[in-house]
Amino acid sequence: MTKGNINVSVENIFPLIKKFLYSDHEIFLRELISNATDATLKLKHLTSIGEISVEYGSPKIEIKIDKEGNKLHITDQGVGMTAEEVEKYINQIAFSGAEEFLEKYKEAGKDTGIIGHFGLGFYSAFMVASKVEIITKSYKDEPAVHWMCDGSPEFSLEETEKAERGTEIILHMAEDSTEFLEESRIRELLTKYNKFMPIPIKFGTKEINDPEFTPKEIKDKEGKETTEPHKKISVDNIINNPDPAWTKQPADLETKDYQEFYRELYPMQFEEPLFHIHLNVDYPFNLTGILYFPKMTNDLNIQRDKIQLYQNQVFVTDNVEGIVPEFLTMLKGVIDSPDIPLNVSRSYLQADGAVKKISSYITRKVADKLKSLFNENREDFEAKWNDIKIVIEYGMLSEDKFFDKADAFALYPTVDGKYYTYQELFDKTKEKQTDKDGKLVVLYASNEDTQHSYIEAAKAKGYEVLLLDSPIVPHLIQKLESSKENISFARVDGDHIDNLIKTEETAISKLSDDEKKQLEDILKDAIPAEKFSVQLEAMDSDASPFIITQPEFMRRMKE
Ligand code: ADP
Ligand code: MG
Repeated sequence: MTKGNINVSVENIFPLIKKFLYSDHEIFLRELISNATDATLKLKHLTSIGEISVEYGSPKIEIKIDKEGNKLHITDQGVGMTAEEVEKYINQIAFSGAEEFLEKYKEAGKDTGIIGHFGLGFYSAFMVASKVEIITKSYKDEPAVHWMCDGSPEFSLEETEKAERGTEIILHMAEDSTEFLEESRIRELLTKYNKFMPIPIKFGTKEINDPEFTPKEIKDKEGKETTEPHKKISVDNIINNPDPAWTKQPADLETKDYQEFYRELYPMQFEEPLFHIHLNVDYPFNLTGILYFPKMTNDLNIQRDKIQLYQNQVFVTDNVEGIVPEFLTMLKGVIDSPDIPLNVSRSYLQADGAVKKISSYITRKVADKLKSLFNENREDFEAKWNDIKIVIEYGMLSEDKFFDKADAFALYPTVDGKYYTYQELFDKTKEKQTDKDGKLVVLYASNEDTQHSYIEAAKAKGYEVLLLDSPIVPHLIQKLESSKENISFARVDGDHIDNLIKTEETAISKLSDDEKKQLEDILKDAIPAEKFSVQLEAMDSDASPFIITQPEFMRRMKE
């Protein structure tokens, strides 16, 4: 038996780990399962390149609660460790075996999906455990070893008996962490962090119908025809899906697979997504993922479903602020990148170069997808416009790169249910709707009902009227006016309409001069001239003998 001191320069690092390493104690399980996964992936890699001749088989990771014994077990069938390796990888805090492995198998090891980075993950066990044991047997022909440490810098290491290859970690739970001996709590953590990890994770067993057994038609006690009860068998309860859709090639997936994955991600979400975007880059950074455009709803429960960030299939966070451009945080789905640094502060994330590139890549990819959806099936795109316009209009406002690309797919609906692209709108209005200086004036309504008579009046003059009703429209209009040349927007009930050069004959009012005079007198008293102007002669409808307009500048002062 060896005794020794864990090799750190600080006298006692454990209180520090407990306090500062991770703010969230619950991530200890994620870290230990990540190590178990790494050990199994290493085995997979070594067998695939023929460095070891054992059969890879179908290894799994098992989580077991021993409530009476106050223990939690995490067992894997991976590469295991020799005594020498335990000395090296466990006793030297912050010596990352994962990094060393990747270094050694550099090129070939790149796609192994290994998670470890900092060489600190294992010690997160001491955030919740008062004592930790490792029982491990390497794939190499060497005796199994037993390591034990009670949270002081002293550890013990001795040979032990263990038949199967792999590692078992035993946590003796600290008094303040017994919540992690509750089945429901562990299940919650597994679902949160490990749902899509690449190695099957077993947590207990479950009863299923025996697939080998076909129930026969039988007669019950009273002689009635019935089917005999299904035979049940007990199988491993595997809590994860090791091959989630985003890790596959888009060519291997159909729309239905994307929809199924959406429900797997958000089990409480019953509405189908409108469409998806499969992200897949490996240069200059690695990133995969699937983003979904949801149907926008007012249901708060559904809005709680957010984009989830993964690193090598390990859940990291659903706070993607800084990684995904803000206008896209309304989308749903997953992003997985080994290049996003874990466990670092938000401010660091936002300054990180790789993260910035990721954000602009995602913006570009979303713009490209919108463009191709529009080009492939314009009718369908128009039908979805109402549900996606908020995201797109917000994106146009907040990201200049997106704004520049948006001409290819952003739509401007008219009150008549037509949808124009920016170019079409420009061409359509340029003949009729220019002002004295030759500037194009696009008329729009924000509410079809209350502005009905103005809309009718404008249409009677042959003008196009857009229906722009999102809350951010005033800002979007400002952005368009300042970025595009020679165009301005005016509300259909503003006075701007008077300044347009009218190509068509002004409709003749049905009012006689006398009637007009009478009306003018009445209106003069009722309506403050400095705020509104009254127009009598332009109307040709019996229902609205006059309209009242407000100067555009007054309108904008209010907005
Ligand atoms: P990292 O995972 O970042 O390398 P950890 O502190 O999580 O750092 O683990 C340190 C090292 O200990 C690992 O790199 C690995 O070499 C070894 N190790 C930890 N857990 C296991 C395990 N279950 N099986 C085999 N080796 C392990
Ligand atoms: Mg680790």
